[in-house]
Order: sequence, then structure tokens, then C-alpha cells
Amino acid sequence: MLLQLAFTKGEFMAIISCPACGQKVSDKAPECPKCGAAIAGLDKEKLAAMERDRRLNLNQSLVTQSMLAMVLFLAGFFFYWQLPPHGWQYYAAILAIGVGFIWYLVNRVRILMLKRKSKHGL
Ligand SMILES: [Zn+2]
Repeated sequence: MLLQLAFTKGEFMAIISCPACGQKVSDKAPECPKCGAAIAGLDKEKLAAMERDRRLNLNQSLVTQSMLAMVLFLAGFFFYWQLPPHGWQYYAAILAIGVGFIWYLVNRVRILMLKRKSKHGL
């Protein structure tokens, strides 16, 4: 009886991810408390489509970012070889190599995680 109640309640108050920002929100909330996107009145199909769009956009932005990181890394490397080993430009080049490398790795990992997540979710 109690279990059934909990199940019913769970069904009535499903926690979903906001299709716009990914924040956990009740599907009975009229709008997302974080970004204000409309939640109420969305059916499952529309929610799934919006979630797919959001993942696609995020993936696109991550791909762009990893390309920028790669450019930063290569530019840093280029200046590292071109510049004499002193002065702030030289250290800026080393910094660019480090930041570009880490930024690139972080983006690759995030893309991998995003792919794994969408495989489980859909
Ligand atoms: Zn939101």
C-alpha cells in the first residue's frame, strides 16, 4: 500500500532534466527554476527532441572548443621554438601549450562522456 503510494507519487512527480540547461526539475514545474524554460505542457516526445538538440549543441560547442584548444596549443608550440628562451612571450608560449593541451583533453573527455550518456539515455 505504502509502496504503491510512493510509486504513484513518483509517477506524478517525475524528475526530469531541463531540456534547455540540464538542471534537474520536476516535470510538474511550470518552468525551469534555473533558466526559465517552459516545462509544463511538454510531452515526452518533445522533451526527448529538445534533449537531443541540447546534446547536439553541446557536442558542437565542445568540438569547436577542442579545435580552439588545438590552435592555442600549436601556436604556443610555434612561438616556443621561434622565441629566445627568455622574456614574457616565451613563458606565455609555454603557458599556451599547457593550457591548450589541458583544455583539449578536458573537451575530449566531455565529448566521450556526452556520447556515453546519450547512448544510455536514448
Ligand atoms: Zn533550465
